Amino acid sequence: MDGTQIKPTAVNLVLLGPPGAGKGTQARKLEEAFDLKQLSTGDLLRAAVAAGTEAGLAAKAVMERGDLVSDDIVIAILRDRLSDDDCAGGVIFDGFPRTTVQAGALDELMSETGQTITAAISLEVDDAAMIERISGRYTCSACGEGYHDSFKTPAKEGVCDNCGGSDFKRRADDNAETVAQRLKAYHADTAPLIAYYADQQVLQGVDAMQPIDAVENDLKAIVQTALA
Ligand code: ADP
Ligand code: AMP
Repeated sequence: MDGTQIKPTAVNLVLLGPPGAGKGTQARKLEEAFDLKQLSTGDLLRAAVAAGTEAGLAAKAVMERGDLVSDDIVIAILRDRLSDDDCAGGVIFDGFPRTTVQAGALDELMSETGQTITAAISLEVDDAAMIERISGRYTCSACGEGYHDSFKTPAKEGVCDNCGGSDFKRRADDNAETVAQRLKAYHADTAPLIAYYADQQVLQGVDAMQPIDAVENDLKAIVQTALA
C-alpha cells in the first residue's frame, strides 16, 4: 500500500419506500449536501407526459390510475438520462427501481460504466401515514421544492423558502383512490426489492416516521460512512 486513496466508483444511492415516504424530500437534501444528482423516474415520466412524447402518451393513463408504467418505457427513459454528464459524479435513484426487472437492469447499467450501488436505503413508514402525507403534498412550480400543508410549510406563507416563488402546484395523482392503488403496487412489485438489496448486502433501513430533519440526519450518516 502506498497510501493512495483510490475511489473507483462514485456514490450511487437507491431510495426505496412507498409513495409519500419522503424520497423526493430527502433526495434534494442529499443532492445538495454531497453533490450528487437526483434522478426521479416520476419526474422524468411527468416531463415526458407534459412534452407529449411517445413514452409520455403511453404512460399518462397508467400514471393516472396509480399503476406502474411498463419496465421497458421506464428503463429506456432512465438509461437515457443516466448517460448525461451530470450523472457521472454519483446519482440518487428516487422511485427507481420499482420492480425486480428494473433492479436487474440498473445493475447492468451500473456495471457497464464500472459503477455499483453503494447503498439501497429503505425509508420505513406506515401506510396510514402515507395517505396523510400525500394528500397534503404540494411543490413550488418554479424550483420544485416540496412542502406539506401540516408537516412542512414555507416560513412565510405563500412564498417558497428556496427561491422566493409564489406559485405552487399539486399533483393530479395525489388523490385518495390513486394513492390506494399506488400503495398496492408498492407492496406487490417494489417491496420485494428490500430482499433483493439485502441479498446484495447494500440494504440500510431508516425510520422515516421521524420528522424530516431526523430522517435527514440518519441518511447523511449513512452516506458519510459510505464516503469514508
Ligand atoms: P415521495 O417522494 O417518497 O413520494 P415526498 O418526499 O414527496 O415523498 O414526501 C411526501 C410529503 O410528505 C411531502 O409533502 C413532504 O413534505 C412530506 N414529508 C416528507 N418526509 C416527511 C416526514 N419525515 N415527516 C412528515 N412529512 C414528511
Ligand atoms: P412518483 O413520482 O415516484 O410518485 O411516481 C408517479 C407515478 O409514475 C407512479 O405512480 C407510476 O405510475 C410512475 N412511475 C414512476 N417511477 C416508476 C418506475 N420506476 N416504474 C414504473 N412506474 C413508475
